[in-house]
Amino acid sequence: MQNEAAIDKIITSKGFSEYKWINPKDIVVAQWVRVKCTFGCNDYGLGACPPNTPTVDDCGRFFNEYDTGLIIRMETTADKDAYPANWSLEMTNKLLEVEREIFLKGYYKAFLLNQSCCSLCEECPGNRLECLDKSRSRPSPESFAVDVYQTVRNAGLKIEVVSENPSEITRIAILLIE
Ligand code: SF4
Repeated sequence: MQNEAAIDKIITSKGFSEYKWINPKDIVVAQWVRVKCTFGCNDYGLGACPPNTPTVDDCGRFFNEYDTGLIIRMETTADKDAYPANWSLEMTNKLLEVEREIFLKGYYKAFLLNQSCCSLCEECPGNRLECLDKSRSRPSPESFAVDVYQTVRNAGLKIEVVSENPSEITRIAILLIE
């Protein structure tokens, strides 16, 4: 049984106000997500993205090892030609702090799937062995084959395909807690 009140306090203290408790066994994992990572995504091959992540089957098994987790939703205005990198880094740093503080409460399996592909460094060698910030590097939900749209909607949160530019964009992190 999680101490939800204590965890809520950690999350809200970092400024996150929109999140839902989930059973990670309900996370939708799909092969098509991996295909779209491999073909069509500019981030393919970065250090915490496919092909440096587990197989789709192993990702599904990984989520099945947890009974409790959170979907954290965040929103900002973005232009595809001027991505708000500073905002993204700020969100990543706060999410890593949340993961750390929850771990220190005794939830030793705490693990963050970050709201973006790992972009902590200006240059990324593109593999785990040469990663320049191994302790803070985290994969995104997509890189673990999560159908983010379906999973987020199933949890009752809003997410839409962005059809205009510039526009409000949604970013999703998943925090596994046990
Ligand atoms: S921490 Fe740096 S080197 Fe490691 S995966 Fe992320 S961007 Fe690449």
